[in-house]
Amino acid sequence: MICSFCREPAILSQRYLGRHLCQRHFLEDFERRVAGTMEKNGMVKDGERIVVAVSGGKDSTALLFSLHKILAGRDVEMVAVTVDEGIAGYRDDTIRAARAIAEKLGIEQEIVSFREMYGYDLDEMVQGKDVAPCTYCGVFRKNALNQTAKRLGMTKVATGHNLDDEAQTVMMNYLKGDMERLMRFRPRRAQPGLVPRIKPLRDMPEKEIALYCMVNGVFTESRECPYANLSLRADVRDLMNRLESLFPGTRQTTMQGFEKIAQIAGGDWAQMELGKCRVCSEPCVKDLCKACELLGKLKG
Ligand code: SF4
Ligand SMILES: [Zn+2]
Ligand SMILES: [Zn+2]
Repeated sequence: MICSFCREPAILSQRYLGRHLCQRHFLEDFERRVAGTMEKNGMVKDGERIVVAVSGGKDSTALLFSLHKILAGRDVEMVAVTVDEGIAGYRDDTIRAARAIAEKLGIEQEIVSFREMYGYDLDEMVQGKDVAPCTYCGVFRKNALNQTAKRLGMTKVATGHNLDDEAQTVMMNYLKGDMERLMRFRPRRAQPGLVPRIKPLRDMPEKEIALYCMVNGVFTESRECPYANLSLRADVRDLMNRLESLFPGTRQTTMQGFEKIAQIAGGDWAQMELGKCRVCSEPCVKDLCKACELLGKLKG
Protein backbone atom coordinates (compact mmCIF):
# COMPACT_ATOMS: atom_id res chain seq x y z
CA MET A 1 0.00 0.00 0.00
CA ILE A 2 1.35 3.40 -1.01
CA CYS A 3 0.64 6.73 0.71
CA SER A 4 -2.11 8.76 -1.01
CA PHE A 5 0.13 11.86 -0.90
CA CYS A 6 3.60 10.55 -1.82
CA ARG A 7 5.37 7.37 -2.99
CA GLU A 8 6.30 6.10 0.50
CA PRO A 9 4.77 2.92 1.93
CA ALA A 10 1.60 3.60 3.94
CA ILE A 11 1.42 2.72 7.63
CA LEU A 12 -2.28 3.54 8.05
CA SER A 13 -5.46 3.11 6.10
CA GLN A 14 -8.05 5.75 6.98
CA ARG A 15 -11.01 3.89 5.55
CA TYR A 16 -13.46 6.58 6.69
CA LEU A 17 -11.62 9.05 4.44
CA GLY A 18 -10.70 6.53 1.72
CA ARG A 19 -6.97 7.19 1.92
CA HIS A 20 -3.64 5.76 3.07
CA LEU A 21 -0.87 7.61 4.90
CA CYS A 22 2.89 7.09 5.22
CA GLN A 23 4.58 7.82 8.54
CA ARG A 24 5.38 11.45 7.73
CA HIS A 25 1.92 12.26 6.40
CA PHE A 26 0.25 10.41 9.29
CA LEU A 27 2.12 12.46 11.90
CA GLU A 28 1.37 15.71 10.04
CA ASP A 29 -2.28 14.76 9.68
CA PHE A 30 -2.63 13.75 13.34
CA GLU A 31 -1.15 16.93 14.77
CA ARG A 32 -2.94 19.14 12.25
CA ARG A 33 -6.29 17.60 13.17
CA VAL A 34 -5.70 17.88 16.93
CA ALA A 35 -4.62 21.52 16.47
CA GLY A 36 -7.71 22.06 14.27
CA THR A 37 -10.07 20.66 16.95
CA MET A 38 -8.48 22.97 19.52
CA GLU A 39 -8.63 25.99 17.24
CA LYS A 40 -12.21 25.42 16.06
CA ASN A 41 -13.47 25.11 19.62
CA GLY A 42 -11.29 27.87 21.12
CA MET A 43 -9.86 25.38 23.62
CA VAL A 44 -6.58 27.10 24.55
CA LYS A 45 -5.78 30.80 24.63
CA ASP A 46 -2.44 32.45 25.39
CA GLY A 47 -1.76 32.82 29.12
CA GLU A 48 -3.66 29.62 30.01
CA ARG A 49 -2.45 27.15 32.62
CA ILE A 50 -3.56 23.64 31.74
CA VAL A 51 -3.87 20.54 33.87
CA VAL A 52 -3.31 17.61 31.54
CA ALA A 53 -4.85 14.48 33.03
CA VAL A 54 -2.21 11.82 32.45
CA SER A 55 -3.06 8.29 33.55
CA GLY A 56 -0.14 6.77 31.64
CA GLY A 57 -2.37 4.96 29.13
CA LYS A 58 -2.00 5.59 25.42
CA ASP A 59 -4.67 8.31 25.13
CA SER A 60 -3.25 10.56 27.82
CA THR A 61 0.31 9.87 26.65
CA ALA A 62 -0.63 10.97 23.13
CA LEU A 63 -2.45 13.97 24.61
CA LEU A 64 0.56 15.19 26.58
CA PHE A 65 2.97 14.49 23.72
CA SER A 66 0.87 16.23 21.06
CA LEU A 67 -0.01 19.24 23.26
CA HIS A 68 3.66 19.67 24.13
CA LYS A 69 4.42 19.84 20.41
CA ILE A 70 1.42 21.86 19.23
CA LEU A 71 1.67 24.44 22.03
CA ALA A 72 5.48 24.81 21.86
CA GLY A 73 6.47 28.47 21.76
CA ARG A 74 3.07 29.64 23.04
CA ASP A 75 2.50 31.33 26.36
CA VAL A 76 0.81 28.26 27.85
CA GLU A 77 1.81 26.35 30.97
CA MET A 78 1.08 22.66 31.48
CA VAL A 79 1.11 20.44 34.56
CA ALA A 80 0.53 16.69 34.22
CA VAL A 81 -1.84 15.45 36.92
CA THR A 82 -2.06 11.72 37.55
CA VAL A 83 -4.92 10.37 39.62
CA ASP A 84 -4.17 7.14 41.47
CA GLU A 85 -7.59 5.57 41.97
CA GLY A 86 -6.14 2.61 43.87
CA ILE A 87 -6.71 -0.34 41.54
CA ALA A 88 -4.41 -3.18 42.55
CA GLY A 89 -2.36 -4.83 39.81
CA TYR A 90 -3.20 -2.15 37.27
CA ARG A 91 -2.57 1.43 38.29
CA ASP A 92 1.04 1.06 39.46
CA ASP A 93 2.22 0.25 35.91
CA THR A 94 0.39 3.15 34.34
CA ILE A 95 1.59 5.59 37.00
CA ARG A 96 5.15 4.55 36.16
CA ALA A 97 4.42 5.23 32.47
CA ALA A 98 2.86 8.61 33.33
CA ARG A 99 5.95 9.60 35.30
CA ALA A 100 8.20 8.55 32.42
CA ILE A 101 6.39 10.59 29.76
CA ALA A 102 6.19 13.71 31.97
CA GLU A 103 9.92 13.42 32.73
CA LYS A 104 10.80 12.85 29.07
CA LEU A 105 8.98 16.03 28.07
CA GLY A 106 10.22 18.04 31.07
CA ILE A 107 6.66 18.69 32.31
CA GLU A 108 5.94 19.03 36.02
CA GLN A 109 3.83 16.19 37.40
CA GLU A 110 1.52 15.99 40.38
CA ILE A 111 0.14 12.67 41.63
CA VAL A 112 -3.05 12.67 43.70
CA SER A 113 -4.84 9.64 45.07
CA PHE A 114 -8.39 8.64 46.01
CA ARG A 115 -7.01 7.38 49.32
CA GLU A 116 -5.53 10.77 50.26
CA MET A 117 -8.47 12.79 49.01
CA TYR A 118 -11.42 10.59 50.01
CA GLY A 119 -10.02 8.08 52.50
CA TYR A 120 -10.54 4.96 50.35
CA ASP A 121 -8.95 3.22 47.35
CA LEU A 122 -11.36 2.43 44.51
CA ASP A 123 -10.88 -1.28 45.31
CA GLU A 124 -12.14 -0.66 48.86
CA MET A 125 -15.03 1.48 47.66
CA VAL A 126 -16.48 -1.25 45.47
CA GLN A 127 -15.35 -4.43 47.24
CA GLY A 128 -18.26 -6.75 48.01
CA LYS A 129 -20.82 -4.25 46.73
CA ASP A 130 -23.17 -4.58 43.81
CA VAL A 131 -22.09 -1.29 42.22
CA ALA A 132 -20.52 -0.31 38.90
CA PRO A 133 -16.84 0.50 39.68
CA CYS A 134 -16.61 2.81 36.66
CA THR A 135 -19.34 5.04 38.13
CA TYR A 136 -17.36 5.54 41.35
CA CYS A 137 -14.12 5.88 39.43
CA GLY A 138 -15.51 8.49 37.03
CA VAL A 139 -17.22 10.61 39.70
CA PHE A 140 -14.20 10.77 42.02
CA ARG A 141 -11.69 11.23 39.19
CA LYS A 142 -13.61 14.25 37.85
CA ASN A 143 -13.86 15.67 41.35
CA ALA A 144 -10.14 15.07 42.03
CA LEU A 145 -9.09 16.75 38.78
CA ASN A 146 -11.30 19.77 39.39
CA GLN A 147 -10.11 20.23 42.96
CA THR A 148 -6.46 19.78 41.97
CA ALA A 149 -6.78 22.25 39.07
CA LYS A 150 -8.24 24.86 41.45
CA ARG A 151 -5.56 24.23 44.06
CA LEU A 152 -2.84 24.75 41.43
CA GLY A 153 -4.55 27.86 40.00
CA MET A 154 -5.07 26.31 36.57
CA THR A 155 -7.51 27.57 33.91
CA LYS A 156 -8.35 24.34 31.99
CA VAL A 157 -8.38 20.57 32.48
CA ALA A 158 -7.46 18.60 29.35
CA THR A 159 -8.43 14.93 29.18
CA GLY A 160 -7.52 12.25 26.65
CA HIS A 161 -11.06 11.26 25.58
CA ASN A 162 -10.95 10.10 21.98
CA LEU A 163 -13.50 9.71 19.19
CA ASP A 164 -14.28 6.11 20.20
CA ASP A 165 -15.01 7.21 23.81
CA GLU A 166 -17.18 10.09 22.66
CA ALA A 167 -19.25 8.00 20.24
CA GLN A 168 -19.65 5.28 22.90
CA THR A 169 -20.91 7.84 25.44
CA VAL A 170 -23.45 9.24 22.98
CA MET A 171 -24.65 5.73 22.08
CA MET A 172 -24.88 4.68 25.76
CA ASN A 173 -27.07 7.68 26.54
CA TYR A 174 -29.32 6.93 23.54
CA LEU A 175 -29.64 3.32 24.71
CA LYS A 176 -30.49 4.39 28.26
CA GLY A 177 -32.81 7.13 27.00
CA ASP A 178 -30.93 9.57 29.21
CA MET A 179 -31.40 12.79 27.27
CA GLU A 180 -30.39 15.05 30.16
CA ARG A 181 -27.04 13.39 30.50
CA LEU A 182 -26.69 13.41 26.72
CA MET A 183 -27.24 17.16 26.57
CA ARG A 184 -24.94 17.78 29.52
CA PHE A 185 -22.27 16.01 27.46
CA ARG A 186 -21.92 19.15 25.31
CA PRO A 187 -19.21 21.63 26.31
CA ARG A 188 -20.63 23.86 29.06
CA ARG A 189 -20.10 27.55 29.37
CA ALA A 190 -17.90 28.64 32.29
CA GLN A 191 -19.47 27.97 35.69
CA PRO A 192 -18.12 29.20 39.04
CA GLY A 193 -16.02 26.58 40.78
CA LEU A 194 -15.76 24.35 37.71
CA VAL A 195 -12.48 24.50 35.80
CA PRO A 196 -13.49 24.16 32.12
CA ARG A 197 -12.63 20.79 30.60
CA ILE A 198 -11.27 20.34 27.09
CA LYS A 199 -10.85 17.20 24.99
CA PRO A 200 -8.29 17.93 22.25
CA LEU A 201 -8.32 14.28 21.00
CA ARG A 202 -12.07 14.01 20.70
CA ASP A 203 -11.99 13.75 16.88
CA MET A 204 -9.16 11.19 16.81
CA PRO A 205 -9.87 7.43 16.54
CA GLU A 206 -8.31 5.28 19.27
CA LYS A 207 -6.41 3.20 16.71
CA GLU A 208 -4.65 6.30 15.36
CA ILE A 209 -3.80 7.43 18.88
CA ALA A 210 -2.10 4.08 19.56
CA LEU A 211 -0.21 4.39 16.26
CA TYR A 212 0.83 7.97 17.13
CA CYS A 213 2.35 6.70 20.41
CA MET A 214 4.12 3.82 18.64
CA VAL A 215 5.61 5.99 15.91
CA ASN A 216 6.85 8.49 18.52
CA GLY A 217 8.37 5.72 20.66
CA VAL A 218 6.14 6.45 23.67
CA PHE A 219 3.78 3.48 23.47
CA THR A 220 3.66 1.44 26.64
CA GLU A 221 1.71 -1.77 26.68
CA SER A 222 -0.59 -1.74 29.66
CA ARG A 223 -3.03 -4.28 31.00
CA GLU A 224 -6.70 -3.51 30.81
CA CYS A 225 -8.31 -2.26 34.01
CA PRO A 226 -9.80 -5.28 35.84
CA TYR A 227 -13.15 -3.46 36.07
CA ALA A 228 -13.34 -2.49 32.38
CA ASN A 229 -15.53 -5.42 31.34
CA LEU A 230 -18.15 -4.85 34.01
CA SER A 231 -19.70 -1.81 32.37
CA LEU A 232 -22.28 -1.20 29.65
CA ARG A 233 -19.50 0.70 27.90
CA ALA A 234 -17.66 -2.56 27.19
CA ASP A 235 -20.65 -3.92 25.23
CA VAL A 236 -21.23 -0.62 23.44
CA ARG A 237 -17.52 -0.50 22.54
CA ASP A 238 -17.75 -3.96 20.92
CA LEU A 239 -20.91 -2.95 19.06
CA MET A 240 -19.39 0.30 17.79
CA ASN A 241 -16.17 -1.46 16.74
CA ARG A 242 -18.21 -3.97 14.73
CA LEU A 243 -20.28 -1.23 13.10
CA GLU A 244 -17.15 0.80 12.29
CA SER A 245 -15.55 -2.16 10.53
CA LEU A 246 -18.71 -2.81 8.50
CA PHE A 247 -19.49 0.86 7.85
CA PRO A 248 -16.33 3.01 8.12
CA GLY A 249 -17.14 6.45 9.47
CA THR A 250 -19.89 5.30 11.87
CA ARG A 251 -18.22 7.03 14.82
CA GLN A 252 -17.98 10.34 12.99
CA THR A 253 -21.61 10.17 11.83
CA THR A 254 -22.74 9.26 15.36
CA MET A 255 -21.09 12.44 16.63
CA GLN A 256 -22.41 14.56 13.73
CA GLY A 257 -25.95 13.33 14.43
CA PHE A 258 -25.55 14.11 18.12
CA GLU A 259 -24.33 17.67 17.36
CA LYS A 260 -27.40 18.27 15.17
CA ILE A 261 -29.79 16.98 17.83
CA ALA A 262 -28.07 19.10 20.48
CA GLN A 263 -28.48 22.21 18.31
CA ILE A 264 -32.17 21.51 17.73
CA ALA A 265 -32.71 20.84 21.44
CA GLY A 266 -31.29 24.25 22.35
CA GLY A 267 -29.00 25.12 25.20
CA ASP A 268 -31.21 24.89 28.30
CA TRP A 269 -29.98 21.58 29.62
CA ALA A 270 -26.30 22.15 28.91
CA GLN A 271 -26.35 25.68 30.26
CA MET A 272 -28.17 24.83 33.50
CA GLU A 273 -26.89 26.91 36.43
CA LEU A 274 -24.86 24.88 38.89
CA GLY A 275 -25.15 25.28 42.65
CA LYS A 276 -22.65 24.43 45.40
CA CYS A 277 -22.45 21.16 47.31
CA ARG A 278 -23.47 21.74 50.91
CA VAL A 279 -20.69 19.44 52.15
CA CYS A 280 -17.62 20.15 50.00
CA SER A 281 -18.63 23.31 48.05
CA GLU A 282 -17.81 21.72 44.70
CA PRO A 283 -20.20 22.81 41.92
CA CYS A 284 -23.14 20.45 41.33
CA VAL A 285 -26.66 20.26 39.95
CA LYS A 286 -28.43 19.45 43.25
CA ASP A 287 -27.36 20.58 46.74
CA LEU A 288 -25.18 17.51 47.30
CA CYS A 289 -22.52 16.58 44.75
CA LYS A 290 -22.29 13.04 43.42
CA ALA A 291 -18.93 12.47 45.14
CA CYS A 292 -20.34 13.40 48.57
CA GLU A 293 -23.46 11.34 47.89
CA LEU A 294 -21.33 8.26 47.14
CA LEU A 295 -19.01 8.94 50.10
CA GLY A 296 -22.08 9.17 52.34
CA LYS A 297 -23.18 5.71 51.15
CA LEU A 298 -19.69 4.29 51.77
CA LYS A 299 -19.63 5.57 55.31
CA GLY A 300 -23.12 4.10 55.73
S1 SF4 B 1 -12.31 0.94 33.45
FE1 SF4 B 1 -13.68 1.89 34.95
S2 SF4 B 1 -12.73 1.45 36.94
FE2 SF4 B 1 -11.17 1.09 35.39
S3 SF4 B 1 -10.00 3.01 35.23
FE3 SF4 B 1 -11.64 3.08 33.66
S4 SF4 B 1 -13.38 4.10 34.65
FE4 SF4 B 1 -11.95 3.46 36.28
ZN1 LIG C 1 3.21 10.22 2.39
ZN1 LIG D 1 -19.63 17.51 47.70
